[in-house]
Amino acid sequence: MPDAKEFPASDESPSLDLHGLVKELFPINRSLTGSGVRQTLAIIARYIDLEIHEVKTGTAVLDWHVPMEWNIRSGTITSMVGQRLVDFAANNLHILGYSKPVQGVFSRAELAQHVHTLPDQPDLIPYRTGYYADDWGFCMSHNLWQSMQDDYYRVEIDSDISPGSLTYGELFLPGETSDEVLITCHICHPSLANDNLSGIAVMTALAMRQAGRRRRLGYRFLFLPATIGAITWLARNEARLDRIKHGLVLTCLGDPARFHYKQSRSGATIDRAVAHVLRHSGHSYEILPFNPYGYDERQFCSPDFDLPVGCLMRSVHGTFPEYHTSADNLDLVKPEALGQSYATIGAIFDLLDNNRTYRRVDGRGEPQLGRRGLYRAIAGQREAGGATQMDLLWFLNLADGNHSLLDMAVRADVPFFRLEAAARLALEASLVGETAR
Ligand code: ZN
Repeated sequence: MPDAKEFPASDESPSLDLHGLVKELFPINRSLTGSGVRQTLAIIARYIDLEIHEVKTGTAVLDWHVPMEWNIRSGTITSMVGQRLVDFAANNLHILGYSKPVQGVFSRAELAQHVHTLPDQPDLIPYRTGYYADDWGFCMSHNLWQSMQDDYYRVEIDSDISPGSLTYGELFLPGETSDEVLITCHICHPSLANDNLSGIAVMTALAMRQAGRRRRLGYRFLFLPATIGAITWLARNEARLDRIKHGLVLTCLGDPARFHYKQSRSGATIDRAVAHVLRHSGHSYEILPFNPYGYDERQFCSPDFDLPVGCLMRSVHGTFPEYHTSADNLDLVKPEALGQSYATIGAIFDLLDNNRTYRRVDGRGEPQLGRRGLYRAIAGQREAGGATQMDLLWFLNLADGNHSLLDMAVRADVPFFRLEAAARLALEASLVGETAR
């Protein structure tokens, strides 16, 4: 493992309180659609110039249709003597997502058909949805359900599933070129902190970061409900997809586990860029091959689109014990972990934005560095920019118009910024010119 913090950006702090934003968004009930999603996007829009899109129920999007909109006001199970046992107001995980309205008295056996628990984690409330199930249901701790042994219960869910719209947020920050980086996260989970909210907070801070700096590439940030959101966006933007040169799906970035990066379907610069930044970050990490399950990379990497999009996470969805339970809460998500995720992705953006290609302009053979003051300048120690003599030799050797700075950094196995620094020295000495590639 190379030295820790070889990327200067790894100490960088975001300009918003990441954990504070997770905390603010945590109580809101979100789903694929509905007022909680709008409320969430309205809070994000305080930080960035977010465009809010509403797409009508029933709109055809690729092989799918935009679903009915779901909104819920309350949901309770009460004993026949009036004791409230389960209450949506206490924890929004208690209601199966997209539950249809119900009101009545049910036997325990009837109610059991609509109760979801985790017998192996008896203290935790599971997170369950029935988006297309035409059903209603309650989620609760197994212990609570076991304690409910009356013959009858009074049940009420005040919700509606009706024509409305699907809501998503988009921010596009144009660059000097038409090439774009696509960054997406999910906004459809209720009170879960690592799954969804960590991605929302880190992505919002990254959007603020990129908005405030010069950009060679454009950056498109999408806040989407899972699956149907990505499909809807793809259907509405097919004509401009060829501009997307790099993409990252962000999820589960707030827990202290090591980083995991899932590669794009067909291999892409983003895969090499993420691996390179992680390798030199000092953080532990693992690279995972593409598979057709997971988050929205499975939409962006579906056939014919096959966009260069990978997925960056810390804990991998579905594999950590708190996943999709009430234990994915504000304690699981750590400010330091969120900050590291932010800084790491910032370094990835900087790499992508500065990944230029150069060609020697001074003729053939190794140039005479001493005559240009470069040999003396860098022998034995790093320049202010961080390049060593060896870095400059690598750069000048590979500046053939075919190797990007990332190619060079990988080949030399040194952090990207050192090849960037070598490029600056060579440019100042008029040894190279930038080439389009
Ligand atoms: Zn999830």
